[in-house]
Amino acid sequence: PVQDVPPTNLTAEQLLDGLLTAEFGSRSCRSRYEFASYHQNKKKKHTPSPYLLAKLRRHEALQKRCGPGTAPYRAAIRQLKSGNGAITAGTEDCRYLVSISYRGLGNRMVATASAFVYAVLTERALLVHQYSHDVGALFCEPFPGTTWLLPSSGWLGGGFPLANLRGYGHGSKESLGNMLKADVLSVGPHGNASWSDSDGRRRPPYVYLHLDSSDFDFHDKLFYCDEHQRLLRGAPWLLMRTDSYLVPGLFLLPSFQDELARMFPDKDTAFHHIGRYLFHPANDVWRAVTGYYRDHLAGAGQRVGIQIRVFRPKQQKPLQHVLDQVLSCVRREKLLHLPETETTISSSSKTSNASVDQAVLVTSLSSWYYERIRDEYGDSRVHQPSHEGRQKWGDASHDGRALSEMYLLSTCDVLVTTGISTFGYVAQGLGGIRPWIMPAIPMWEPDRDEVPDPPCVRAMSVEPCFHSPSYYDCAARKDVDVGKVLPYIRVCEDVSWGIKIT
Ligand code: GDP
Repeated sequence: PVQDVPPTNLTAEQLLDGLLTAEFGSRSCRSRYEFASYHQNKKKKHTPSPYLLAKLRRHEALQKRCGPGTAPYRAAIRQLKSGNGAITAGTEDCRYLVSISYRGLGNRMVATASAFVYAVLTERALLVHQYSHDVGALFCEPFPGTTWLLPSSGWLGGGFPLANLRGYGHGSKESLGNMLKADVLSVGPHGNASWSDSDGRRRPPYVYLHLDSSDFDFHDKLFYCDEHQRLLRGAPWLLMRTDSYLVPGLFLLPSFQDELARMFPDKDTAFHHIGRYLFHPANDVWRAVTGYYRDHLAGAGQRVGIQIRVFRPKQQKPLQHVLDQVLSCVRREKLLHLPETETTISSSSKTSNASVDQAVLVTSLSSWYYERIRDEYGDSRVHQPSHEGRQKWGDASHDGRALSEMYLLSTCDVLVTTGISTFGYVAQGLGGIRPWIMPAIPMWEPDRDEVPDPPCVRAMSVEPCFHSPSYYDCAARKDVDVGKVLPYIRVCEDVSWGIKIT
């Protein structure tokens, strides 16, 4: 096979100002060093801090030193098999975080990015569980010289011994919450955390973190307390199950605050940097992104992305009020020009920012909204890459289309998204775009059919919303208004029970 050697002449731009390592070849993963060229148009550029860059390089070294196939990894697997969690010689230098993310691709991406931030903060190697078996098919490896995929149980270099990771849940006895309840783990009156044993006999080699918004309880949420974080530090393996963007919750932990502030001095670009660092669509997906971009979006002076997501068990039926909301938003905020008012300019003068030849990218599971928008705003410039009809599980080509549409949306200059949707969060985060968010009607209110007033609001920042924060102030031992604890963490525009970095 042709050797995939690192290119020698990568520019700072291609490396996203040093966010990416130059150690990778470019053939096996074209998106990695090509991403930048699809995002050059952005008015506001977000530059990563030198501290973050140094931290990422150190973390890459850790992933390589501890990753599957290495001696420390084999030792840690042996320890996991032994069932004994006491730290023994040879296992102290590498600790691991297994990320179990689930639901749609947007949820899985914000969850994986959160697990990565937590892994960096706690100096653990991140391994991702292949929940839907398609992580390896959709994404390139983010760390050079190793893999981030959790080896399957049959893998010769040290298969992962715990079976059925999908089966972990609220009732698992290895969860932080249940171990606290069973007194296997305890936290003393002065916040000093300990395992209840003295000789390590009862100490399990791993702790399962149940951060599932649908059914986690008070004890599970003690994950967001400093004293419990101290306790977790001693566990060689952590399994983290979540579908959410946890980073605002990590910022609320006093012991992580300083470090996070140094990594992300601009705070509201955490996902923008981490998402661009971690996720690189595999060549098949990237070919779809760049081909579609070239055919439909490249020539326009301005690209407007509209992401329409309807949270209904049955997505098929078109909803007039959702269309009305979209149209009302783009009219009110003057985001789309009607064809007759458009100043058509020749391609030679396309550098002018005042040019208004727009290309409109609509993404939705249904084609109905796209057809109505196209009727109004012109055949030739309104585009929709796919209409999958419904959300599908465990279908790699369906997920590939979802991924390519998130990336296409991220290339836009203006973005209109549907609130609550992590699909939209990923697009805005990758693109560094503050979208217009259309408040969405949640799944549990299927009969509400009004157009909200206003139909859309401008997002405070490009960050995703954390949908399931803990409201518990561990030091004060009571619930607090978590949107008021730090000046840069506020209640989300689209989710009144969520918080986001602004
Ligand atoms: P969320 O449910 O809106 O937070 O976003 P997720 O990405 O987690 O889950 C929605 C899933 O439905 C996506 O991953 C896709 O599989 C599918 N989906 C939803 N909207 C679209 C769309 O506009 N285009 C495509 N291709 N798939 C979509």
